[in-house]
Amino acid sequence: KNLLADRVKTLTPSTTLAITAKAKAMKAEGIDVIGLGAGEPDFNTPRNILDAAIDSMEKGLTKYTPAGGLPVLKEAIINKLQRDNNLAYTPGEVMVGVGAKHVLYTLFQVILNKGDEVIIPIPYWVSYPEQVKLAGGVPVYVEGTAEQQYKITPEQLREAITDNTKAVIINSPSNPSGMIYNQQELAALAAVAVEKDILIVSDEIYEKLVYGGITHHSIAQVSQEVKARTIVVNGVAKSHSMTGWRIGYAAGDAAIIKAMTDLASHSTSNATTTAQYAAVEAYNGSQDAVEHMRQAFEGRLATIFPKVAAIPGFSVLQPQGAFYLLPDVAEAAKHTGYESVDAFVSALLTEAKVAVIPGSGFGAPNTIRLSYATSLELLEEAVRRMDEFVKAKW
Ligand code: PLP
Repeated sequence: KNLLADRVKTLTPSTTLAITAKAKAMKAEGIDVIGLGAGEPDFNTPRNILDAAIDSMEKGLTKYTPAGGLPVLKEAIINKLQRDNNLAYTPGEVMVGVGAKHVLYTLFQVILNKGDEVIIPIPYWVSYPEQVKLAGGVPVYVEGTAEQQYKITPEQLREAITDNTKAVIINSPSNPSGMIYNQQELAALAAVAVEKDILIVSDEIYEKLVYGGITHHSIAQVSQEVKARTIVVNGVAKSHSMTGWRIGYAAGDAAIIKAMTDLASHSTSNATTTAQYAAVEAYNGSQDAVEHMRQAFEGRLATIFPKVAAIPGFSVLQPQGAFYLLPDVAEAAKHTGYESVDAFVSALLTEAKVAVIPGSGFGAPNTIRLSYATSLELLEEAVRRMDEFVKAKW
């Protein structure tokens, strides 16, 4: 008998986690590897948030919560959406889940029928296609080329839509490209979604990490009509350096939110209670730490960007947000004698002792993703190693 269900037969593990695991194993063997694979801020969770979590536990608030989240957390999220994004929601339009990742998973489970198509712009976050497929959906890829700043155009979106299209995913600021859609671009994409009557899944997890004076806009802000067909997904992981706490949320149509909540009631019951109390403080307390971390990332980017751009055969766009660089290294791979960027990435790890993520996992096989969520000292050393590696083999 088959041990496994058909549904998981094509499931591929997250490339990001795989490389990070390999780099960690090398480190455990005593090899001096620098990991630039991380998808998480390197800061501690701010003190006031830790205190709020401890305080809630000491008060005995350690029991189940409503499946869709603590009322007090929903209220904090509603206030945050109003304050930061000028978006008004009611508690019935918000659900709290186990990180934005699981919220997205739950969302695709409740909106997709077998064969429904979801438009995923390339380069994409690794989990979108797998989550869509696990829900019986079909990923339809649209390429945002480097010439388009890794963003898709309204014309591309329109062309990709068929009678089976259920939704399009917009991730701005983007992982892995760091690019941000401006207001006009969002409005133009939204107009197509309205015209063709499809949902918009807006993953705004990197909202707070924006640089160069750029402001983040949610596509739901375009109009009431657009907001009605948009599910905003966000969380505390990247903004408040709370990746391990696993708190994310969705805001949107009440029927979708109710279905997600009902599904959660049979799968997770609720996101960890202590983590929910921590998230209340994250949204209601001082936001100083958020800005402090943003500035740190911006400072690192300013130092590291010109150095990465100067490595022979690396071609890289200046990112506007998140904490990744996505250089196209096809030229460097070719000149140093590797038949693919994946092979180049393997050699970087074993020979230069620098772990980066191959872009093949993001649908952009000529690129690599470097995370600058690590100390400036390590970043500079990693870039020096990559530069030396490429120059030695050129
Ligand atoms: N969306 C994107 C684009 C991400 O990069 C990540 C984290 O890597 C997530 C969602 C998931 O965030 P969370 O830790 O809240 O599940």
